[in-house]
Formats: sequence, C-alpha cells, structure tokens
Amino acid sequence: MKVLVVNAGSSSLKYQLFDTSDYEVLAKGNCERIGIDGRLTHKMPGRDDFKLETPMLDHTAAIKALIGVLVSPEHGCISNMSEIGAVGHRIVHGGAYFSESVLVTPEVIEKLGHCRDLAPLHTGAHLMGIEGCTAAMPDTPQVLVFDTAFHQTMPDYAYTYPIPYELCEKYSIRRYGAHGTSHRYVSGEMCRLLGRTGGTKIITCHLGNGSSISAVKDGRVIDTSMGFTPLDGLEMGTRCGSIDPAIVTFIMEHEGYSPARMNEFMNKECGLLGVSGLSSDCRDLGEAVAAGNDRARLAEDILTYQIKKYIGAYSAAMNGLDAIVFTAGIGENRTEIRKAACEGLDYLGVKLAPEINERTKLQSENVRISSEDSRVPVWVIPTNEELVIAADAERIVSSLRK
Ligand code: ADP
Repeated sequence: MKVLVVNAGSSSLKYQLFDTSDYEVLAKGNCERIGIDGRLTHKMPGRDDFKLETPMLDHTAAIKALIGVLVSPEHGCISNMSEIGAVGHRIVHGGAYFSESVLVTPEVIEKLGHCRDLAPLHTGAHLMGIEGCTAAMPDTPQVLVFDTAFHQTMPDYAYTYPIPYELCEKYSIRRYGAHGTSHRYVSGEMCRLLGRTGGTKIITCHLGNGSSISAVKDGRVIDTSMGFTPLDGLEMGTRCGSIDPAIVTFIMEHEGYSPARMNEFMNKECGLLGVSGLSSDCRDLGEAVAAGNDRARLAEDILTYQIKKYIGAYSAAMNGLDAIVFTAGIGENRTEIRKAACEGLDYLGVKLAPEINERTKLQSENVRISSEDSRVPVWVIPTNEELVIAADAERIVSSLRK
C-alpha cells in the first residue's frame, strides 16, 4: 500500500510517501508559507530537488499542490491519486483520549478538538491538515498517530502531579509525555534486538532540540520525563526543563513578566542557549567546548548529569535495567554527550566501547556502542517516526477491508 505521511504545522506541511511493501520512501517534501504565498520543495531518491512556488491559501491548497507534484509525469512517482491507500497524520497531543492510533471519524475529530487547550497551535494545524486531506482526497481513509499515545500506560502515581486533585481533573493536568512515536519505535527495535518484549527494562533517550527519556518495561511506558507539556524534564535546546517552580514566580515578579512572556522565556530563551549564552545547537556548543568556552561546557555538563540521573531513577523505578537506547539528533550524533552520560554507570553494568561510540554518528543502522563485557547493552538506534505512522496507517486501513 502507498501511504502518505503528513505532519501539519500552522504554516507548513511536511510529507513522505511510503510504499509499505518494503517501507521504501518514494518521495518526501515540505509545503511552506501556507496562508502567505506557498512554496513546495519535493525530493525523490536519485533526482534533483524540485521547487515550486504556487499559491497555498490554506492546507487544502497545500495538499492539492503536493498531490499535483506526486502524480506529475516529470516530478512524481504515482500515476494517479487513487494509488494512495491511506494518509497517516502525526498528531502532537491526544490528551487522555487516545492511547493508540485511530481511523479518522467525526467522533475522533470531535475528541481531537478537545485537545486544543493542551496544544493550541499544533492541534489547530493538525485539524487543518486533516480537513485539507478530506477536501483534496475525500475517498482516502486517514489515520491519526499521536505523540502522546505510547505514554498512556503510565500508572497514576507517575502521571499525577501533587497539586489539588480537583484542579488536575478540572483542567486535565497530568503527565502526558511527548515523542511517544519515537520512544515506541526505538524501544520496539531494542526488544527485537534483545529477542523478547516480555521481561525487558529499557531506557530510551530521545535527545534532540526537544529531549525526553522514557522507562519502558515489558514494552510499556511506566514513566517519561516530559510532562503536562514538552517543557518538563531535561534541559533542552531552548527549553529549561524541570526547574524549581518557585523560580517561575520569582522571575515573573522581579522581571515584570506576564504569564505569556514567562512561557516564551521558558520555551525559547533557556536550556543550552540560556546557559551557554551562545547557541541552542549542540554542534556549536561542541566546538565552543573544544575551544575552552566554560559556559558551553557547563550547559553540556548539566545535560549529561541530568541524563545520568534519569537513567539511575528509571532503573530504580523498573527494579533493573536491560538496555539503554540513544536516538534523535544529539543521541545519534554527539559522541561526547553519550560518553559523559554513561560515565560512572558501572554500578548498573553499563560500559561503553569508546572507539565504537566515537565513530558512531550519522549512522542509518542500529549500532551497539557498549563493550562486549557490558552487562547492559547500549545502542544507538536512529529514530523513524514516519515509518511508524505509515505502518499504523497501513495496518488500520487494511483491517477495514477484512
Ligand atoms: P528536533 O527536536 O528539532 O527534531 P533533532 O533531533 O534534529 O531535533 O536534534 C537537533 C540537535 O541534534 C541539535 O542540538 C544538533 O546540534 C544535534 N545534531 C544534529 N546532527 C548532529 C551531528 N551530526 N553532530 C552533532 N550534533 C548533531
């Protein structure tokens, strides 16, 4: 089946067309400046990128434009739209409504609408993306795959915040987590590598611009570092992660920040950028550390110390550890951060193979970076959220035909 994977943002829409017989990516691209003017960049293996400027008043126009390119004899890879058997949408927040991927129905759209409060910008964009697909390809079934779904298995004591329970209920305040599709993919790969799902205690470290760590026991999440929003947990590129909540009110009072300004501050001005005063990008920080910049070193030291603490905490929560996985931009590529985060974990049975760790970057395969005698294997597993979305869409839509 050919599945179109869609990741709709407020003014952009990324897509990938998969053939699920072998999970080959036939084409991918990005529609940008939706609602402004409209720009499409289309990529196909072995071909030059194709760029198109065409009016995209809304997401429907963007979907029509990308379908036009997909079916065009010069730049496309399918002969007509009906070859697309399903659309899979990446959805950032499914609240407590969705614990697995679902087929789009009017009830599902209604429930997704209730998630607007939890992720206003993303949910609005996703709804426009779904509407756009419905308008442009009315007969093609659509499936939603949620970033929060994999985390819905957490026990109540892991997802409940210690504030008055009535407020948690009133505003649906709880730990939801994020990056669930990535944690699901890499933990699934890790179970495959271990040869079992039952009896596994895996810690998955998704370290990118946004970062989160999950404890996955027997294939189910029991805890994760992101919370009510993706601001919780680790120090990130520009997000502060978990800080003493009293710092929030202190800064608001002393700097005269409104709630909106404080939100912007915590999301955009903190983390690696805030501490280093230099950059949110780990590549820049790596160069600065090598050149002797102390604040860049401190920014990275905070992150590696936090990763180490989560590994310790989640090993305690699972009563043991069978494997650690690193993934996403930093996890797949920053050898120094993996090394520092795994240092001093010998009490847990973790021992990296320094040379393998050092040369493991920009890999497309899974690589074991721990030494032969490490009791706990440590792997770099490149994440592939789009593949999970395509596979879920294929599975759900195929089951309709049975
Ligand atoms: P996002 O959360 O936006 O998807 P990514 O997973 O792409 O983020 O991760 C971005 C981070 O990964 C940045 O800090 C970047 O410096 C780092 N990164 C990406 N590629 C490399 C690389 N080749 N070497 C070192 N760091 C990298």
